[in-house]
Amino acid sequence: MKFDVVVIGAGAAGLMCAGVAGQRGLRVALLDHSATLAEKIRISGGGRCNFTNLHTKPENFLSANPHFCRSALSRYTPQDFLQLVGQHRIPFHEKHKGQLFCDESSQDIIDMLWAECERGQVQLRQRCTVDEIQKHDGDARQRFTVRTSLGEFNCANLVIATGGLSIPKIGATDFAFKLAQQFGLRVVETRPALVPLTFDPHTWAPFTAISGAALEVEVHTAVGKEKGQFREDLLFTHRGLSGPAILQISSYWQPGHDLSINLLPEMDAAELLLKLKRQSKQTVLNALMSECGALLPRSVATAWLDKVSPSLAESKIADVADKLLRAVGAALNDWRIRPQGSEGYRKAEVTRGGVDTRDIQQQSLEVRTVPGLYFIGEAVDVTGWLGGYNFQWAWASAVTAALALSAT
Ligand code: FAD
Repeated sequence: MKFDVVVIGAGAAGLMCAGVAGQRGLRVALLDHSATLAEKIRISGGGRCNFTNLHTKPENFLSANPHFCRSALSRYTPQDFLQLVGQHRIPFHEKHKGQLFCDESSQDIIDMLWAECERGQVQLRQRCTVDEIQKHDGDARQRFTVRTSLGEFNCANLVIATGGLSIPKIGATDFAFKLAQQFGLRVVETRPALVPLTFDPHTWAPFTAISGAALEVEVHTAVGKEKGQFREDLLFTHRGLSGPAILQISSYWQPGHDLSINLLPEMDAAELLLKLKRQSKQTVLNALMSECGALLPRSVATAWLDKVSPSLAESKIADVADKLLRAVGAALNDWRIRPQGSEGYRKAEVTRGGVDTRDIQQQSLEVRTVPGLYFIGEAVDVTGWLGGYNFQWAWASAVTAALALSAT
């Protein structure tokens, strides 16, 4: 079977790329080993797919080359995707900080992308296992042979859209990275990102009882030149911390480094405790709750105070030394804590790292040394923040590649 383009991976980026290329008149085959289309879109955004973010900027992405994503993001913007969503009359709403979600179901986005593929007469092959890819020199119309469980596909252009490693149980594989290595490309070390963080059971024992408690915090970490800082909700879990604040910072955190969590970002906690000492006859816990019970759940304050200084919570605040109150206040604003690890690819929303952008042209996503070979979407070393940025990268990189493809 001869095609202008074979796209491997019928997820977010693959469907988008196949549809656009097909509508440009190219003969496109779209292959996926799964039985269902775009499982990650289906489960995304709690089933409602946070399909883009209105405020998308290159600064919302991590990569060894932070500038790489600029070109694709400016070629295909959130407004462009919204126009498509509008054409398909998909109802949506803005939830928080520019994040756009479907009103009804993620399936609306999958149906839209598939309808676009049908318009482009894309030939879909599901349950298709790729066994081998061969590159041929000479005839540009037949640069690649893709040997699969469903036969051989010959093509001029090969687009790899098989995503990252997160959630293997719905079909994630290391296909893109192995193929990159087969063609001599570099791969930036991969690790789980947008993932809950875990602590060693001894450190975490005082907090297991407050699993489910949540509060708004400011969290930051710095590793080398990369600094992450987010003000979002944090959630205590049985094994550690989760919630948007932690998912965001997990993409920046590296093993062996601390997180700094400000549990009371609205105030100078040391100043507050010293003021309460002068005014209050209550215990430290009750005095603190009287001023910031709305910001800091009582269960969190109790567990945290017990961990920092046993029996302090029940001491009369008037009897506590200024020095101790200052130290406790400083720690409330800068709780240093070192995760042991993360929940791994089983729970990670995305994969950090991937095919090294130094080997890919940013204007087209084509591999510099292998004409006709493209990598798009999460397989590339471009990782977005939580909030619709990863899909925007999938759409933008897919369209950029689709517009660069030619029939030869
Ligand atoms: P994918 O969408 O993962 O598609 C890869 C495709 O390749 C899949 O169909 C897979 O079956 C196929 N494939 C893999 N290996 C092979 C192989 N060897 N042979 C053949 N086919 C193969 N991002 C957001 O922006 N907003 C959200 O709301 C959001 N929510 C998320 C929720 C969860 C639980 C998860 C896990 C992720 C979420 N993401 C979200 C991230 C987003 O889903 C991904 O960044 C995006 O899907 C990446 O698109 P992609 O096309 O590169 O890869």
